[in-house]
Amino acid sequence: MRYRILGGTGVEVSSIGFGASPLGGVFGEVSVEGAIAAVHHAIDAGINLFDVSPFYGKTLAEQRLGMGLAGRRQEVILATKCGRYGEDHFDFSAGTIVREFEQSLRRLKTDHVDLLQVHDLEFGDIEQIVNETIPAMHRLREHGKIRFVGITGYWPGLLAEVAARAPVDTVLSYCHFNLMMDDMDDCLTPFARESHLGLLNASPMHMGLLIGGAIPDWHPAPARVRAAAAEVVRLCREHGADPAAMALRFCLDHPDVASTLVGIASIEQIDGNLKALDLPPQPDLMEAICDAVAPVFNTVWPSGRIENWDATLRSTDKASADTVRTPVAAGRT
Ligand code: NAD
Repeated sequence: MRYRILGGTGVEVSSIGFGASPLGGVFGEVSVEGAIAAVHHAIDAGINLFDVSPFYGKTLAEQRLGMGLAGRRQEVILATKCGRYGEDHFDFSAGTIVREFEQSLRRLKTDHVDLLQVHDLEFGDIEQIVNETIPAMHRLREHGKIRFVGITGYWPGLLAEVAARAPVDTVLSYCHFNLMMDDMDDCLTPFARESHLGLLNASPMHMGLLIGGAIPDWHPAPARVRAAAAEVVRLCREHGADPAAMALRFCLDHPDVASTLVGIASIEQIDGNLKALDLPPQPDLMEAICDAVAPVFNTVWPSGRIENWDATLRSTDKASADTVRTPVAAGRT
């Protein structure tokens, strides 16, 4: 495993982070035994960053991660989230996030987490998040319940804007830097670098599109993005490459990202993902992938309140019917 420093926190995190949403059954059934075994295997393999949320599987992922970490809590950097508790259930008020966080601690079987993050802030009132939610998280920090404060969400520009207005240690962006996207780098990456924020990049498989398996009903990607991702999978297989490892390898090469968070459901997936660390470059395959993805590269979908959509949204995407028209709830993980 390789390790990087998480921005100004000074904490060393594994370059591959364990995304625990699959433990909540978000991508398909996972047994309790399978979840616990995957957590143990990941720790044994040197993965030390674990990311979860009460939202994943309606608290199931936190419960299972808590079981897996029993007796091993000291070996990991543990991150959970607050403010999102259901598909359409958001509450970023100070009272709720403090109360719900106590429940997260209970499920995770610990007395503190290393990182507490606002979950999907584009679904909230940004003034409330800046003036009420993040200050409440800092009070939790003063009480020793958390070590660091972070934010997560879908729109990179909005994440940078909030991080510029409120004191945070980390920013988690998802589905904006992988084989299908790179617009995290337009404004968020430079801002994180200059501000010494810990930058976490989630969803290297574009929330499962780049593994060639079944796509869950909730996935918000439009049809043409799904088709391009399926073509990437086909090309990888044609070249004898594992699409998941190719997708992860691309993300691991990013110089500013402290850890790439990949959703993990099994021991086999961990072993597959570890291979990405030493995957040799395949320029011919990469060229074919770039050609296949070019027509849909940087296609976004709706997420959160319209007023929170990213100002950097491509104007062409804005006009496209299958990308951004209605503010439906997206971003399941
Ligand atoms: P992902 O792109 O990591 O894809 C996950 C899917 O790929 C799952 O079905 C998983 O089982 C599968 N997979 C992983 N490795 C594989 C392998 N080697 N072979 C075959 N299949 C493999 O998407 P994700 O899970 O949405 O993102 C990763 C993590 O990032 C999440 O679990 C979560 O912790 C975090 N995240 C956070 C937010 C947020 O805070 N708003 C949003 C998205 C993701």
